[in-house]
Amino acid sequence: MDIGIAARFFALDNAIAHRGKAQPGAVIGRLMSEFPEMRERSKEASALAAKACAEVNSMPSAEQRAEHERLAPQMPKREKAAKRTELPDLPGVEGGVVMRLAPNPSGLLHLGHTRMAILNDEYVKRYGGKLIVRMEDTNPSAIHPDAYDAIPKDLDWLGVMYDEVCFQSDRFDLYCDAAERLLEKKCAYVCTCDQEVWRTLKLKEEPCPHRGAPAKDNIALWKKMLDGNLQEGDAIMVVKTDLSHKNPAVRDFAAFRILDTAHPRTGSKYRVYPTYNFAVAVDDHLMGMTHVLRGKDHLNNTIRQEYVFDHMGWKKPVFIHYGWVSIEEAVLKKSLIKESVKDGTYSGWDDVRLGTVQALAKRGIHPGAIRQYWIDVGIKEVDITFSWDNLYAYSRELLDPVAFRYFFVADPQPMEIIGAPPLEAKVPRHPDRPEDGMRTLHSGADGVVYISGDDLSFMQPGAVIRLKDLGNVKVTAPGKAEYIGNDRSVLKSGAKIVHWLGAEREPFRVQMPDGEWREGFVEPEALSQQGKVVQFERFGFTRIEGREGYYAHR
Ligand code: GLU
Repeated sequence: MDIGIAARFFALDNAIAHRGKAQPGAVIGRLMSEFPEMRERSKEASALAAKACAEVNSMPSAEQRAEHERLAPQMPKREKAAKRTELPDLPGVEGGVVMRLAPNPSGLLHLGHTRMAILNDEYVKRYGGKLIVRMEDTNPSAIHPDAYDAIPKDLDWLGVMYDEVCFQSDRFDLYCDAAERLLEKKCAYVCTCDQEVWRTLKLKEEPCPHRGAPAKDNIALWKKMLDGNLQEGDAIMVVKTDLSHKNPAVRDFAAFRILDTAHPRTGSKYRVYPTYNFAVAVDDHLMGMTHVLRGKDHLNNTIRQEYVFDHMGWKKPVFIHYGWVSIEEAVLKKSLIKESVKDGTYSGWDDVRLGTVQALAKRGIHPGAIRQYWIDVGIKEVDITFSWDNLYAYSRELLDPVAFRYFFVADPQPMEIIGAPPLEAKVPRHPDRPEDGMRTLHSGADGVVYISGDDLSFMQPGAVIRLKDLGNVKVTAPGKAEYIGNDRSVLKSGAKIVHWLGAEREPFRVQMPDGEWREGFVEPEALSQQGKVVQFERFGFTRIEGREGYYAHR
């Protein structure tokens, strides 16, 4: 295959998926994966990609589509699904495991969170034991109350089999008990210094005056925190680590602070709230976690939490940290989504432009594809870039054998067929499963059929095209064609297959992942597939909801 043509094809492919504008980075990526020798010739790959993108981006989108279709047969199959892999075994699994998913209900789950959900679920399924969903809601100012109900639903959609859902906000008394024990052991102190002063002292590896104070003094201050004699900002409860730890981030950490913020679940019952690191350490112990699987962005947290285990003499779980995954082209930041849903930029947390689990579900991405993707990526510490192409490849593999096929004609343009009897097409619902039966479609009144505006470029006078399963026509003038029979052999001489709708057609629109709507006609039977994913032939897999569809992928 000619590498220049491949670059052009990859640019076309990417442009079609991104409002007509191909990104050189995506083209370089595909060149390197199809032509491994290009990995050592990255300058050349960049130049090829830049040229192809510049050319393609200056073309009208109908031309991009037409050329894409022309080049497609000579190209390697788009993104091969990576080979199936299995997760490596975990140490210390004798007698089963207890693991957890610990989302912060500060927003709904997004693609990034699905990794921890799937990995933990896979291991509990493999070794037997218990999977606990723990809502980490100890920061009353970072809670999005809808998340409490939405998260378990998202996990259900992903096929995660959890045994129970618990809330850290039900467990505040337990954290306070543990705090008191640490204070008694002189493994913690209550600091009323100015926070900045305390931080600066830590940087200099020096203790603040409270660090060495007698336990009874610290306990007295702690009581004052609890009973309201100290105000927000006046004091924090601190767990001692190692003041001369080479990593300053690990030196003594705040375990409790006073917050005058009402909590969505406990109201104003509490005002001394534990920090993430403290609550997690206590819970991982009390809930008997055997393994904690988390991203390596939590490495410092793990070290802090281990101090709590050591101070208390608790047995530690096996901690495993997987690498960072950067998910490009996706809106994931919860605070940003929250704002933008509020101000109407997005229609909701399930807006198809978002990377939330709800958006993926709405588009009809197969949840099994998300699972397989994370299994493939595994638990290695290396950082990776998420590949939407691979996710789509898995999803396609799962949907293709089951999704019914229908015609959707986007941007419909009438074409009059001259000299034809009323025509009928019988089309299988699924090409590989005759048992699913056929649909019947007819040409319209006066022989008019609608074809997609995307296909207009094939309609040059003189061109022979095959209206799929209906018959062949020769274009005579714009919007007019002459019927020339039903012999499939025209395909051998280069005739294009074009989708169409005639007598049976309903208005329908499909929302693309960039939020744009494609208006058109769909065959009526597709409307009976509510909530299901169908394949609109030569268009893509789409989930049907009412008179609208949401595009998953090609
Ligand atoms: N709530 C934490 C998070 O979502 C959990 C991390 C962990 O302790 O594994 O980042």
